[in-house]
Amino acid sequence: MNDKDQLTEEKWQAIINNDAAYDGKFIYAVKSTHIFCKPSCKSRAPKKEHVRIFYNAGEAQAANYRPCKRCKPTGERQPDYEWVAQITQYIDSHYSSALSLEKLALECHGSPYHLQRTFKRIQGVTPVEYVQQRRIGKAKELLRETEEAVTDIALHVGIPNTSYFITLFKKKTGQTPAHYRQNRARPFESQEEA
Ligand SMILES: [Zn+2]
Repeated sequence: MNDKDQLTEEKWQAIINNDAAYDGKFIYAVKSTHIFCKPSCKSRAPKKEHVRIFYNAGEAQAANYRPCKRCKPTGERQPDYEWVAQITQYIDSHYSSALSLEKLALECHGSPYHLQRTFKRIQGVTPVEYVQQRRIGKAKELLRETEEAVTDIALHVGIPNTSYFITLFKKKTGQTPAHYRQNRARPFESQEEA
């Protein structure tokens, strides 16, 4: 093992204190978000166990980490579409837990305002709309393919408030979760209606 890859106490202190004196000496990547930063980055401090140290940006990129939008550790601006791909990926793996625009902005290293605008320009929907699409899509799947109660399905897709879930589901699909399940469970009946 090479010493320059180690997360020493000195490097950890540089990270949590945003110490610019260490910029250029190493960069750190965060395993949970797949983003890498300069030591001085003002983004929220990562969990220590998620940190991986690299000697430079090239090594981090070779290991499939992406440069932070905020501290720009490669010295260039990350293209917006890459950033949006990163945000989308984050939503896809976290939509079943509580997810606000503020939380997304924190995790994906940008301001809420900038994140919202950039995401909408590239994806055509706002981040919140996209989260809802993912949640309703997953709820439909669970209604069709499982016997889980509506309350449990709501929880499962990150909406602990069941009546809000039902309202949202109806708004997006035109029917309540219970009706959706009924119609899907008996396809022959719905054919007769047509
Ligand atoms: Zn950063």
